[in-house]
Amino acid sequence: MPLEIVTIPCLSDNYAYAVQDTETGEVAVIDAPEAAPILRTLSFRGWGLNMVLLTHHHPDHVQDLDLLTRAVEVPVVGARADAHRLPELALAVGDGDAFALGVQTIHVHDAAGHTTGHVAYHFPDAHALFTGDSLMVMGCGRLFEGDAKTMWDTLSRFMELPPETRIYSGHEYTLANARFALTIEPDNPALIERVKRIEAARKRGDDTMGPTLEEEMATNPFLRASRPEVKAALGMEGAEDWEVFAEIRRRKDAF
Ligand code: ZN
Ligand code: FE
Repeated sequence: MPLEIVTIPCLSDNYAYAVQDTETGEVAVIDAPEAAPILRTLSFRGWGLNMVLLTHHHPDHVQDLDLLTRAVEVPVVGARADAHRLPELALAVGDGDAFALGVQTIHVHDAAGHTTGHVAYHFPDAHALFTGDSLMVMGCGRLFEGDAKTMWDTLSRFMELPPETRIYSGHEYTLANARFALTIEPDNPALIERVKRIEAARKRGDDTMGPTLEEEMATNPFLRASRPEVKAALGMEGAEDWEVFAEIRRRKDAF
């Protein structure tokens, strides 16, 4: 069932999203970094607004919620675990919960690691996953509140979703992530080819959101910590998957 997805650049490198269930015309916005571009997008398309979904508590994802909901009063959805430090929620959700936008079902996934109460929103009929700062295109969020094991478990659960699932994250960090990825797997042909496409897209000024999970699993080093070739490249043949993930995260922090 069709879901129209609009990527909305906000602040310096954040993304919010507006998504419309085309059957009923209902619209959700995911995250509220900056009200003006979001409201401009809605008005340009002639879209209303039915709900706002928050991925996590960081200011660059929630700071303009007031301005947004002052203009259009709608229910706000966010993590029950973080209700004490999120704006007031009409619907507090946790892992495994489901709710609806028009005829679209939205599944809530625990996405802890970047922050403890982080959630991701999965639209299974539309094969779309909104990951905030957990899984990012070609990368993953920094570990501010969770540990490496927690983030690896989050990413491992995402990897069980259908391979055609498209990934929409909270920032345009893709080019820097891709350059880092090459330091881990310089000889991965799928990665080499993808970096070229990412460079071309960024040169054109295009965003890089919406790759498939399959593409991410072939090229995103943070999703490849369990692969023998990645373990070998890092000299970590005997290590647990999450330990290899931790080493890749440590290298990225220093990159
Ligand atoms: Zn964040
Ligand atoms: Fe962020």
